[in-house]
This record gives sequence, structure tokens and C-alpha cells, in this order.
Amino acid sequence: MSTNLDNFSAAAQFGSEYILAPLPYADNALEPVISANTLSFHYGKHHNTYVVNLNNLLAGTDLAGQSLEHIIRATAGQADKAAIFNNAAQVWNHMFYWHSLSPNGGGEPAADLKQKIEASFGSLDACKKEFSTAAMTQFGSGWAWLVQDGDKIVVAKTGNAESPITQHVRPLLTIDVWEHAYYLDYQNRRVDYVNTILDKLINWDFASANLK
Ligand code: MN
Repeated sequence: MSTNLDNFSAAAQFGSEYILAPLPYADNALEPVISANTLSFHYGKHHNTYVVNLNNLLAGTDLAGQSLEHIIRATAGQADKAAIFNNAAQVWNHMFYWHSLSPNGGGEPAADLKQKIEASFGSLDACKKEFSTAAMTQFGSGWAWLVQDGDKIVVAKTGNAESPITQHVRPLLTIDVWEHAYYLDYQNRRVDYVNTILDKLINWDFASANLK
């Protein structure tokens, strides 16, 4: 079974504990677009901190041991559960991001996805341009997404830890636009980070596996 959004988050759990799921590639596999230095801090420090925080926040609560998706949906929009939501959603979003990238990424999607993209955006280039614009115009920290909404493929963006899995859409791909995702390699040049990912690393096979 290929990895997709329906099965990957089980890798983040061991019993009732949440663990740092393995990266789907070596930490230097995305060079030169994303350096091993960036990846080791992003995965080993940022992502791992969300995992540690989540375990601490959930210890002894009714949510302990539930799936990440359940926790995210159960705590979304609740001010007194914001810390749990933020850490659970960041664990999920980061796993989704690692799978959205591939050392063999870029290029063109498979025929079925490409046809859906062309029906929704007119062309693959128009889709990539809208995806890039969403990533560029997300003010401050957040995420740009390609999602499936019924028969349509749509671009979305979310702030901070927000995730489209709380909405009635199906995520296909994401790009992390928090500064920690690119600052060591690109400093303030988010546009270069985003466009290089879209050309060289974006994992269209993962997007196809996520299509319903
Ligand atoms: Mn991040």
C-alpha cells in the first residue's frame, strides 16, 4: 500500500505515545534545494518539539492515545484546548509536508491528477502559480495547500498550525511557509524556496495517492 493521508499518521503513534515518525528519505536527500542543516533542525528540533509537547499535554487526558486526526478535529476552535490543537496539528502538518516532498519530485503529475488539475486551473502551470502565490501571500507563519474539494482541485492557505483536515476538503500536498522551513537556506527569500520546491521536490505521486 502506498503512503497516503489515510495511513501515514499511524506511524506517529506507539500505543498511547506519540513518536517522531521517520522521514521518508535521508536528511541530505533534498539537497541542494533544502539543506541537511535545515532538515535536521526542522525535523529533529521543530517537529520533535511538537511531539514532546503533545505527549506532555495529553498525559492523563481523555484524548491520550486517540489518532492525531481525532485530536485535531476535537480541539479545533476551542480556546481552552489551543495548545493541544496547535501541537497535534503541527505534528500532522509536518508529517504531511515531509511526504509532500521527494528527492524525485517536480516534473508532472500522473495522467489522472493532471487531467483534474487542468480541469480546475486550465493548466499545470496555472495551478503551480496559484499554489506559489498562496505560499507567498500567507502573512506570517502558516501553510499553503493543494486540496481536493469534491471534483475540484483547489489551492488553500492556513495560518500558524491550522490544517484543512478540520474542513470538508481532502489535502493533497502542502508547503510549510514558517520561516524555520527556509531561513537557513534562503533567508527572507520565501519566493525562491517555494518556486524551487514546486519545480524540483513537490511529490505529485503523493498527491495522486491522496486523491479520492
Ligand atoms: Mn515547520
